[in-house]
Amino acid sequence: MEKTVRGPVVVIGAGLGGLSAAVHLAARGREVVLVEARDVPGGCCGTARAAGYRFDTGPSVLTMPEVLAETFGAAGADLESVLPLRRLDPFYRLAFHDGSRLDVVGGAERMAANVRELCGPAEAARYLRFRRRLGEMFEAEWSSFIDADMTRLRGMARPYALLKLAAAGGFRRLDRFVASQLTDERLVRAHTFQALYVGLPPHKALAIYAVVAHMDTVGGVYFPARGGMHAVPHALATVAEKAGASIHYGVRAERVETGADGVTGVRLDTGERLPASSVVVACDLPRAHAGLLPEAAGDWRLRRPRYSPSCLVMHFGLDRRLPGQAHHTLHFGREWGTVFSALAAGRPQPDPSLLVTCPESDDTAAPAGHSTLSVLEPAPNTAGGADWDRLAPQLEERLLRRLAALGYGDLSAVPRETFDPPAWARLGHSAGTPFALDHRFRQTAWFRPSGRSRRVPGLHFAGMYTAPGVGVPPALISGRLAAARILEGAR
Ligand SMILES: Cc1cc2nc3c(=O)[nH]c(=O)nc-3n(C[C@H](O)[C@H](O)[C@H](O)COP(=O)(O)OP(=O)(O)OC[C@H]3O[C@@H](n4cnc5c(N)ncnc54)[C@H](O)[C@@H]3O)c2cc1C
Repeated sequence: MEKTVRGPVVVIGAGLGGLSAAVHLAARGREVVLVEARDVPGGCCGTARAAGYRFDTGPSVLTMPEVLAETFGAAGADLESVLPLRRLDPFYRLAFHDGSRLDVVGGAERMAANVRELCGPAEAARYLRFRRRLGEMFEAEWSSFIDADMTRLRGMARPYALLKLAAAGGFRRLDRFVASQLTDERLVRAHTFQALYVGLPPHKALAIYAVVAHMDTVGGVYFPARGGMHAVPHALATVAEKAGASIHYGVRAERVETGADGVTGVRLDTGERLPASSVVVACDLPRAHAGLLPEAAGDWRLRRPRYSPSCLVMHFGLDRRLPGQAHHTLHFGREWGTVFSALAAGRPQPDPSLLVTCPESDDTAAPAGHSTLSVLEPAPNTAGGADWDRLAPQLEERLLRRLAALGYGDLSAVPRETFDPPAWARLGHSAGTPFALDHRFRQTAWFRPSGRSRRVPGLHFAGMYTAPGVGVPPALISGRLAAARILEGAR
């Protein structure tokens, strides 16, 4: 039986995982100090400026606003007042290589009408059945697996939930699961591209990840009414501070210190030492294990890490608006299966699908009459040993040509900011990927690095390296789970 200790809690990293932990802990009256190496909160959910333009450098597909609402709600703040969100319409525009398009919109009947127009009535009927099945799978997974604490033994003992998931087809491969219910290749792509969000090709991802397609294509995609995506971490930091947390920016944690009873404090790069009875480490875990953490904190699950692919992201400042452009357009390449094998082998995709984001409603992004455009291309991470000095300019050139061919014009001379895998590595992401470990079976749920150290009392983990995993809602949930363990007295 562990001792209950109610000392200060130090949270390392003001990404969404760390911020969520800080909000939940401070709201329950715990003394919380959050240290962040950068000058602003957000981590991956960052911001950059160039020539009068502002770019959101991380997530753009914001799903499951209820998870954000719950995080703010823990501190008595109302999502509608601290961070009003707008539901995008369409959620995505899918542009296929044959020139056809599908707008993914809210509401079963509206969406079925779009499917009917693109693929005919029989496929629309199949779509509606598939959509119901996605909903059932989501219900089966949410409370038992995604929103549950996998560090507890009882988290593993869910035979009924597992059986339900197996019966729903959750342990088949995602591509086969979707193709068994939809016949039009374009619709299959519309519900399998999300495998990339969990770092896997659709033929390797388990069908349980079809829930990601439920979250975005059914649940909807949102965007802050003011301030772009970077408003999310700002609002979280404000709410955490109002609840009593103290946040130190521009300060790096250098060493988690321990004594016979577990953690005792955190040594900072300023030389200062923060006393702590619990520490939540909410940053890149492989790097943390290379110096920040005591050896006893080692986790066998990180012995052979399998990293997600990375991405090349280019942000452009345009001196014009883009009337009629959807907020999110996914341009599918002609190739599909082969593009994933290239990534898995550490090579750039031969014909990548691109996510183009145009946040026209964000008036902090560009001067009046101007706009910004961001494009994300999946790219290999740096673990494959590619020669990035040579590869990076080639990929940038190719992307500029592709954007011109897609009708975005010549963007080679407009103000821009670029993030390629070496840039992600410089920002502190292991293997040059901001998407952490992929979500193969042996890096999922109980097999993802633990949220709590078994051998170092008081040491907890949050963020995308832990369960439930990568993405805005999972990172927020991981912070809440870490806070809950501490609040229950598990140090
Ligand atoms: C380009 C891109 C696109 C994305 N698109 C989406 C999307 O559309 N939808 C979606 O849901 N998700 C998306 N994601 C993923 C999502 O943004 C992340 O999974 C999530 O934000 C990770 O949060 P985190 O708290 O785990 O980690 P991070 O955001 O990495 O935060 C960790 C923080 O710890 C700090 N830190 C590190 N070491 C130390 C130290 N020693 N001392 C102090 N501070 C330290 C870092 O500076 C950083 O701020 C995207 C990410 C990127 C980069």
